[in-house]
Amino acid sequence: MATARPPLHVLIAAPRGFCAGVDRAIQIVELALERFGAPVYVRHEIVHNRFVVDRLRSLGAVFVDELDEVPDDRPVVFSAHGVPKSVPEAAAGRSLNYLDATCPLVSKVHRQAERLIAEGRHILFIGHAGHPEVIGTFGQVPPGSMTLVETVEDVADLALPDGNLAFLTQTTLSVDDTAAVVTALQARFPTIKAPKSEDICYATSNRQAAVKAIAPRCERMLVIGAPNSSNSLRLAEVAQRMGVPAKLIERATDIDWDWVGTPASLGVTAGASAPELLVREVLDALAARFAVTEEIADHRPENMVFKLPRELVA
Ligand code: SF4
Repeated sequence: MATARPPLHVLIAAPRGFCAGVDRAIQIVELALERFGAPVYVRHEIVHNRFVVDRLRSLGAVFVDELDEVPDDRPVVFSAHGVPKSVPEAAAGRSLNYLDATCPLVSKVHRQAERLIAEGRHILFIGHAGHPEVIGTFGQVPPGSMTLVETVEDVADLALPDGNLAFLTQTTLSVDDTAAVVTALQARFPTIKAPKSEDICYATSNRQAAVKAIAPRCERMLVIGAPNSSNSLRLAEVAQRMGVPAKLIERATDIDWDWVGTPASLGVTAGASAPELLVREVLDALAARFAVTEEIADHRPENMVFKLPRELVA
């Protein structure tokens, strides 16, 4: 006789998964494939998700690290994270047909950086070293005009005088950690100029808030996202800091069932680059082992849509 499945209440965070910037970037590659045929080259992972990248590859996208791998006669798409100015310049120099899938909210930070430099300020950029968005943003300004700050401890080490400073941030940071770094910066440099509006994007903030909203009701939490996805890593951190053991998984096959155990409640969320299909796959895997009741915990509805490049919709 089959053993009865233990009951499990699954709280599905909302919003979760794809944001408007990721959606737009994927559509740009899909439309470029429709318009120009395969292969369409993509510089770097279009978004940080292996499943998305593999699907686009199966449609004819070719992912490369650098522009010199792109033949002169093929279109190339730049990823959602943004690129240093030198990249479109090099593409234009070779007369490549390039499409920029940089999220408009990342481009907004780029333009702010340019304006601050034009005002004669030095920028302190709060972000994670080596992340493509950070590399892209540093590439908007002359070398030496921006300093990376990762932690509160970094602020104490800064050897800069107060005056003519400004700060900007990566779009996918922890809201709480960033607030602490900003407080430290403002204490150390009282005249530092803040961005007009929050640089951490709506999708990052909303997904973190949605995790905070369900965490008190969850014994454990699964976060679907790639290990190199900054906003997904932050979601797991948010849950952990609220005392909820959380694991980042790429898809259902990564679930460590010993770790899951037999909790009464489990939270599920997904980073901004994780497709809903992978969320469904995880929910189905849970339903195969537990008698699941699902609850969508709609915290903050989203309806953001970004325009596609004119050359693809005309
Ligand atoms: Fe744009 Fe935010 Fe999505 Fe990044 S996470 S692509 S900044 S909307």
